[in-house]
Amino acid sequence: MGQQQSSVTDRLAQIKGAQVIKSFCYTCPWTCPTEVFVRDGKVVYHKGNPEAPNNIGTRCAKGMASAWVTQDPDRLKYPLLRSNAKGEPGEFKRITWDQALDFMAEKLESIRQKWGPEAVVYLTHHDPNGIFMVQLISQLYGTPNVSIGHGSGCEGDRRSACFTTFGNIFPMHDFAHSQYILLWGMNMLGANQALFESRGLLEAKKRGAKLVVVDPSFTETAQKADEWIPIRPGTDAAMALAMNQVIVEERLHDAAFVRDHCEGFDGFAEHLREQGYTPDWAAPICGIEAETIRRLAREFATRKPAISAIFKGSGYYTNGAAAGRACYLLDAITGQVDGPGNLHLKDFAPIGMPATIPEEAMTKPSKPPLARAMGYKMTAPTSYPVLPEVPNARLPEAVLNDDPYPVRGVIVQAANPVMSDPNRERMQAMFAGLELAVAVEIYMSETALECDLVLPNTSFYEQAEIRQGMWLGAEAILGQPVVPPVGESRPMYDIVKGLAERMGWGQYFDYERWEDWAEKRVETLPVSLEELKARGFWAGELRYGKPAQGLPTKSGKVEIYSHAYADAGLCPYPLWQERSVIPDEAYPLQVTHSKLSAHCNIVTQNNPMLMEICGENWVEINSQDAARYGIRDDQMVVLESPKDKIEIRAKVVEGLVPGAVSIRHGHGFGHWAMGRIAKGKGAHSNNLMDSHTNPLTGTNSYNECKVRVRPA
Ligand code: SF4
Repeated sequence: MGQQQSSVTDRLAQIKGAQVIKSFCYTCPWTCPTEVFVRDGKVVYHKGNPEAPNNIGTRCAKGMASAWVTQDPDRLKYPLLRSNAKGEPGEFKRITWDQALDFMAEKLESIRQKWGPEAVVYLTHHDPNGIFMVQLISQLYGTPNVSIGHGSGCEGDRRSACFTTFGNIFPMHDFAHSQYILLWGMNMLGANQALFESRGLLEAKKRGAKLVVVDPSFTETAQKADEWIPIRPGTDAAMALAMNQVIVEERLHDAAFVRDHCEGFDGFAEHLREQGYTPDWAAPICGIEAETIRRLAREFATRKPAISAIFKGSGYYTNGAAAGRACYLLDAITGQVDGPGNLHLKDFAPIGMPATIPEEAMTKPSKPPLARAMGYKMTAPTSYPVLPEVPNARLPEAVLNDDPYPVRGVIVQAANPVMSDPNRERMQAMFAGLELAVAVEIYMSETALECDLVLPNTSFYEQAEIRQGMWLGAEAILGQPVVPPVGESRPMYDIVKGLAERMGWGQYFDYERWEDWAEKRVETLPVSLEELKARGFWAGELRYGKPAQGLPTKSGKVEIYSHAYADAGLCPYPLWQERSVIPDEAYPLQVTHSKLSAHCNIVTQNNPMLMEICGENWVEINSQDAARYGIRDDQMVVLESPKDKIEIRAKVVEGLVPGAVSIRHGHGFGHWAMGRIAKGKGAHSNNLMDSHTNPLTGTNSYNECKVRVRPA
């Protein structure tokens, strides 16, 4: 386009009479850079930032519908204080921000005096400006219990596997350059995934790459695949170990790569032999023929560049950490690590901290983080500081039984553990047992209903933020406020400033405008705040080949032999173990979950546009099972586990392993709070499950659940 010509953005701005502000979407964690068109204080249009490598100008349906959040009448507008007894559904009265912050600061001080700083936990799922609260509550107040990576409610097993194998906490995928793509429980085209990855996958397919999807369910991605491998639920580790065995046995591994860049290849070969992890052993476990496992192993090892990638579908079991490691070891032994078309070890942008806190002002925790004290040795690390994730599902034990030590205060931001963790009643009992429960939220959530104090948070359109971009290379993205806050809602940086002033730490959060702290955060970037404002992001050079430069593992290499596991007294190589809940005569069906592309977790169900696309969730059931239990397509059914039952719509399908059911969007529907559009739509399945966690990582094992089904 010639210089004199306007860009599409400029032309659109002219047509709409709007100002364009570069920002990013935070409807889901992939944070796509966006251009937001604003007129008279309202968002009139928005589109992807065409220069950004994350999304290259595009957005998904959720992103396109996201401006609703700035006008939703159900948004929280004022600070609210509980006016009835804990344990009953919350009734609240409006208070001022001064009253709210005084209350919170006093309670935090009283808990610290009585129980110590470790007795306060900060949980966030999305973490809008969570770094401010982390600096206050972790570095100054002194608790090691912060969870800003939401790993325990998400893909903590995969992150743990990537961290222990490659020293990297967040694997990404260079699908665009792959020739062979092997996905384990990963629905790239149906669930929330980075848009450049989904696009790269489809481009690779068009170029002739082979796509193999290992999943009990014929997901949206499986439907595009060259081959769908309908594996029995929770057996991915067995199949991946057997594929490793074939590659090692047939000398198809990359001998130079394992010699120069890996730790423990020979020991792994011995381990596979000793354990007898052959295709003939795996076949009856996985329900996949031994010859198919052999063929896939040979294909994977010889058709390069290749990638073996895993996501939540394989990790929602108590054996999910081993599945993650076995899957990544396929990449390791074939030398398919961090080259074009491989699993990518993402670089992170050097974004500075908003507050400069001198070492002598920091409070060192005197107790270990809850995850360690609870015995989880391989927990996924949070993104900052590198602390283990809080195992949400076990938190009630600390509050109600002081096990492993007392917790008395929980601050929840943009997270809804009552709804999104298993075992709702236990979570509600936990909140009733706290001396301080605070929800920082944009809606009255199921968790907020249980809290003492509810603080209205700004949405991503109403606040500033600088965070890591979700792209292969190092990237920093800037969110700018584009419209005024709804009601009296405040961003986290203002809430933390107000708290810090009351708690004697005001000097560390002494900014007046958001630009003051933003200037500080970009000092370590090769770009100014003004440049970031104009462009919306900064992207560093895309680097490949990091194993040759040394990795941040104990050995500096790819750890096939995991020092982290060995140092913790565990087998350094992945072991096969059956999952913990097995269907039986009384409850013959295995629960699995998959997501919906029009929704993200528990945050989109009050959006009328997205609810028009997809207004409820459902359970998929194989036609053979449907015939056996008298279920017709589109009929309401009762799903019953040993713990609870729900009514949900059934879809009878061919594309699902018999003996399993697949609940769509397990955490997002069946709200009894949140907003008038979300309330009462679809079914909430989490209460079917008990609080099973992965014994190594503390991640929720949502699929450790068996059910029976009957017509409603
Ligand atoms: S992928 Fe996520 S961040 Fe990107 S537009 Fe969609 S909802 Fe927004």
